[in-house]
Parts: sequence; structure tokens; C-alpha cells
Amino acid sequence: MSDRVAQRDLTVHGIALEAQTRCSHYHGPLDIIAIRMKCCGAYYACRSCHDALADHTVDVWSMAEGDQPAVLCGACRTELTINEYCRSGDQCPNCGAGFNPGCRSHHQLYFASS
Ligand SMILES: [Zn+2]
Ligand SMILES: [Zn+2]
Ligand SMILES: [Zn+2]
Repeated sequence: MSDRVAQRDLTVHGIALEAQTRCSHYHGPLDIIAIRMKCCGAYYACRSCHDALADHTVDVWSMAEGDQPAVLCGACRTELTINEYCRSGDQCPNCGAGFNPGCRSHHQLYFASS
């Protein structure tokens, strides 16, 4: 758990980013999470933002890395591990903000399933 409190840059990158990390691609009321990309360790509002802004190919986490903090709640700025996010029931365990259930359908964009 100790690395959860380590200094990390929680700046979220994205296109047309707003306060709760919505971007030009995902901007519904529940689209409030940002994802930390394995390739560069930076938070992006979504993978499309990474594709547009980063100068390299995205690399995704494997499920074996489920203890990595890689999801940021845009409402309270709490980092969740991949496992915490997958078990969250589409709700932030810290502040209770709702997450978009549809994100589950494109998990594979961010987290390899095997
Ligand atoms: Zn990257
Ligand atoms: Zn985006
Ligand atoms: Zn939260």
C-alpha cells in the first residue's frame, strides 16, 4: 500500500478536458474517470486522448497488474487500483460518484484480459 501515497503526477491530459476529466470523446455525466497509461505513467481522460496527444503507441495493463493504481476518480481525485475499479460496482468507493457502466464494455482498451 505504501506506493499509494508516493508522489505521483495526477495531472490528467486530454482534449477539451474539463474539471472532472471529461474530454471531447467521452463527456456524459458519468464519464468522470481518467486512466493511467502503462506506457508513460500519465493519466489521460481516455485512450483516444492518449492516441491524439502522445507521441508513442499505447501500452495497456495486464490483469496481473491489478494492484496498480491506474484509475483516477475525476470527482474526488482518488486513485483506484485496477482491481478496486473492477470491483467498484460502477461507483467510486471513496466519494460515491457514479462511473459509466459502459466503460466495462471497452475495458480491453485499457486492461488486457489475459
Ligand atoms: Zn503513453
Ligand atoms: Zn478523450
Ligand atoms: Zn470519487
